[in-house]
Amino acid sequence: MKLYEYQAKEILRAHGVAVPDGIAADRNEILNEPDAFHERLKQLNASAYVVKAQVHAGGRGKAGGVKITRNQEDVLPLARAMLDLTIKGLPVRRIYVEAAVDLAHEIYVSFLFDREKSTYSVMCSGRGGVDIEEVARSNPEDVVRISLDPFTGLKPFHLREILSLLPHSGETARALSATILRLYAAFVETDAELLEINPLVVTGDGKVFACDGKMLLDDNALFRHRDFLDFEDLGALDPMESAAREAGLSYVKLDGQIACLVNGAGLAMATMDVIRHFGGHPANFLDIGGSAKASVVENAMGLILEDKAVKAIFVNIFGGIVRTDEVARGVLAAVDRFEITLPLVIRLVGTNDREALAMLRERGFDALNEMNPAVEKAVHMAAPSGG
Ligand code: GDP
Ligand code: MN
Repeated sequence: MKLYEYQAKEILRAHGVAVPDGIAADRNEILNEPDAFHERLKQLNASAYVVKAQVHAGGRGKAGGVKITRNQEDVLPLARAMLDLTIKGLPVRRIYVEAAVDLAHEIYVSFLFDREKSTYSVMCSGRGGVDIEEVARSNPEDVVRISLDPFTGLKPFHLREILSLLPHSGETARALSATILRLYAAFVETDAELLEINPLVVTGDGKVFACDGKMLLDDNALFRHRDFLDFEDLGALDPMESAAREAGLSYVKLDGQIACLVNGAGLAMATMDVIRHFGGHPANFLDIGGSAKASVVENAMGLILEDKAVKAIFVNIFGGIVRTDEVARGVLAAVDRFEITLPLVIRLVGTNDREALAMLRERGFDALNEMNPAVEKAVHMAAPSGG
């Protein structure tokens, strides 16, 4: 799950990282409740303001999504204008206004996974604020990347190596070390996949602030962080993906014609392989999960039908915990509710399959026990001359 800057900063603040004071406001508040917005703005009490578009993308500064003003009266017009921007194809629906800090030095710091080495890694550069890939290309000696053993973590000798790259000493160096340690703790404790601060700022008087924050959380660890679920912006997802998420389904749109409704990610992948083997192209990857109820199957069918490229539907269920008769009931309910006329092939095997197959065949559907003939049939039906 991608976080917006203001959400990442909320997490960082809770981990003791110094972050400028700020207020987030959505489109409705900025356009329709300017008085409430001004009330909140007044509490910021800053000598200058940074107005920042909240989108799931970096490089906002270059795209006009970061503006600085000394005048509080300018904040609202700047925020309004920013709502009309599209940054890297993403509409701006929320604005964050911060008390500006005096940035004497911009540093780059990030924590991420190194999947090859099975470690975490920390990257740092004294040339922050700009595109770090560019710095890594032109001045690789200015970027340090250190592997961190997840069991022992970030140690003083790592911090010394990082600080040797930076021109700071004394109190400022200590503040930087403390901040980098807290960032690491935030990264680990939130089960983040990425935490990137660019820039981490040192002010003229030696204070350290995280002025930007990019954070990716591991969706598979969200069950340990129920409070983070509120961070999810369903409106920012593709409409079908968000509908799937709300229904508890895992759905990925692909570019073929055969819709697949499968239980379990492993079976979903095997199904797509077999479809390709027989010359077909899957239209999606839809995993209804491990203990699908008829209502879940019904919703999943509804979702599949939203995709106008679909020419045939293939249901492939392995009934372990899942009862295949329950799935069959869901399929039939969907056929009735959505008046499905597309070719439909159903392969069911496992718990209660005899009853399930009988139920489907009674209604005239192609219901099979074996995978290969079922896939072949679906591929044939989806073909331009099919049926
Ligand atoms: P990004 O372009 O999406 O990475 O957005 P950032 O939040 O990193 O902002 C872009 C740039 O705006 C930063 O690199 C800074 O140079 C500048 N900036 C951001 N916050 C402040 C601030 O509080 N004061 C000043 N003077 N500049 C800022
Ligand atoms: Mn940045």
